[in-house]
Amino acid sequence: MSDAETLFERIIAGEIPSDKVYEDATTYAFRDIAPQARVHVLVVPKKRYRNVGELAAADPQLLADVALAARKVAEIEGIAESGYRVVFNTDGDAGQTVFHVHAHVLGGEQLGHFGR
Ligand code: IMP
Repeated sequence: MSDAETLFERIIAGEIPSDKVYEDATTYAFRDIAPQARVHVLVVPKKRYRNVGELAAADPQLLADVALAARKVAEIEGIAESGYRVVFNTDGDAGQTVFHVHAHVLGGEQLGHFGR
């Protein structure tokens, strides 16, 4: 298992410091170290799956937990009303670098249209 695969488990365990925004029984949310918007928070299920498809197939309730945690993060950050984006990068062309599924919650400003 590479460092990239274990990074978020080490963050969840508190072995690597993080700027925590929210936590519940099944998810952990913290600020991205290289923010791409004024608000950029990662929501990670504590149980590791490689990507959102594998998570959905294996544990749809846990995927729902991630979506609800993303909404909670938006409320905490004060962007639930103005709107926000939830992104799951999946594998190479999407630029996924940490293979422990995570939702990017982005907002706090007008976001550009996604694509290339
Ligand atoms: P991915 O590219 O969708 O896999 O997203 C991984 C994200 O993790 C990137 O946006 C990184 O900036 C972020 N990241 C990597 N290491 C850390 C860290 O130690 N703390 C917080 N965020 C991190």
